[in-house]
Amino acid sequence: MTKPLTITEASCADDYDPNSMPVAKARAFIHTFLSPVKGIARLPLRSSLGRVLAEDIISPVNVPAHINSAMDGWALRFEDLAANASATFTEVGTSFAGQPFVGAVGKGQCVRIFTGGVVPEGCDAVVMQEKAQATGKSITFSAGVKHGQNVRYAGEDLKAGAVALAKGRLVRPAELGLLASLGIGEIGVYRPLRVVFFSTGDELVSIGSPLGEGQIYDSNRYTLHGMLTRMGCEVIDMGVVRDDPALLESAFHEASEIGDVVITSGGVSVGEADYVKQLLTKLGEVVFWKIAMKPGRPLAYGKIGKAHFFGLPGNPVSVMVTFYQFVRDALLTLQGVNPVPAQPLLKAICTSAIKKAPGRTEFQRGVLYLEDGFYKVRTTGEQGSGILKSMSDANCFIMLHDHVGNIDAGATVEVQVLEGVI
Ligand code: AMP
Ligand code: MG
Repeated sequence: MTKPLTITEASCADDYDPNSMPVAKARAFIHTFLSPVKGIARLPLRSSLGRVLAEDIISPVNVPAHINSAMDGWALRFEDLAANASATFTEVGTSFAGQPFVGAVGKGQCVRIFTGGVVPEGCDAVVMQEKAQATGKSITFSAGVKHGQNVRYAGEDLKAGAVALAKGRLVRPAELGLLASLGIGEIGVYRPLRVVFFSTGDELVSIGSPLGEGQIYDSNRYTLHGMLTRMGCEVIDMGVVRDDPALLESAFHEASEIGDVVITSGGVSVGEADYVKQLLTKLGEVVFWKIAMKPGRPLAYGKIGKAHFFGLPGNPVSVMVTFYQFVRDALLTLQGVNPVPAQPLLKAICTSAIKKAPGRTEFQRGVLYLEDGFYKVRTTGEQGSGILKSMSDANCFIMLHDHVGNIDAGATVEVQVLEGVI
C-alpha cells in the first residue's frame, strides 16, 4: 500500500499555485483527504431519517412477496382462452388483498380478484374489470388478453438476498418506506459528523449586545449554524474569538480536540492570514489558497490533529458561497454519503447583462423563474460580498466560468440551484 500523501507534500506538487487555485482543483485536492467517519449506530427506522447507511441492506424477502394482481378484475388461466375470439368463464371465488382464494382453478374458470390480491395457483393473467362483461357468475372476456398481463410476480421488484440499498445511501423518506416494506426495523448508520465552528474578528459583536464604534454583528455564526444543521451535522458553536494569537491558538486546539471538522470564518485574508498561518503551521498541516473565484477568494484547508479544517473568508456572502462550493461536498463525503450527488445545475436564459472579467469563476446570486416554458434567471442586483440580502433574495447561483467575460442579456448561463442547504 502506498503511503497517503500529506497535505503539505501535496501542496508542494509541481502544478500547485496557491495564488490562483481553480475551484475544481481545490475541490479535488480536498477530496483526496476525506473518508467517512468511523463509528456506526444501530437506529430504529424513524430515527435514521437524514443519516447515512453504513452497511448494505440485503433484502430478507422477495418484493412483492407473492404473485399478485396489479388490477381489479378476474384471474384466469391463459391457456383456456381462445386464440382470436372472446371467451366466457365461470367465476369460482374471490381473491381480496390479504385474503386469498383457496382452492383450485379449473379449465374455463376464473377468480374475481382485487389489486394486491394473490393470483391463484395456475392462473397467469388478470383481465381488468373494464375489459370484461359479467352476467352473474358468467364472465366474458374479449379477445386480445396477453399472457402474464396485470400479474406482478414474486421477487419481480427485488429478489430475496439482493442488495436493496447500498452503503453510502442517504436515508430519505423513500428509503424509510422501502426499508419498512422489507420488514426491517433497525439499520446501521454512520454517527453524525461533529462540526465545531467559530468566528474571528475584533470587530464582531454577538447579538444581544449593543454595537460600539466600528463594530458589526456576527452573522456568519448564524448562516453556518443553519447550513450545518440542514446538513444533519452535530453543531458546536464556539462563538467569537478575538484576533489574538494566544486566544486563537487555544480555540483552534480545543475545536480540533472535540470536532471531526473545524470551520472558522474570517482571518484568512491577506494581512490577517500571516499570523493565522504561523499558528496553524504549529498546530497542524494547512494550505492557504487564493481561489480563482468571486466571491470567496481566500480559503484555507487542512488538518489540525485529526480534525479537518476549513478556514472560510470573513465576508458573509463569501462564507455561504465557499461553504456551498467546498464544504458541502466534503461534509457529505465525511458523513459517508457515496456517491456524493452532483450539485443540481441547469441552463437558463439570463435576463440581466453582467459585467465580468475572465480569469475567475463567479457565483452571482440569482433568481431563477419559469416564464413561457423556459427557465430564466436575473441577478439579485448588487453583488458585494458583504451583502447578505443578495443571498436571502437568491434561489440560485449564476455560475460564470473562468474563461467567460461579459454576459449580454439573453445569453444562456449555467445556474446552480440552491436546494436544501442554503
Ligand atoms: P476577514 O476575512 O476577517 O478580513 O473579514 C472580511 C470581512 O468580513 C470584514 O469586513 C469583516 O468585518 C467581515 N466579517 C468577518 N467575520 C464576520 C462575521 N462573523 N460576521 C459578519 N461579518 C464578518
Ligand atoms: Mg477578520
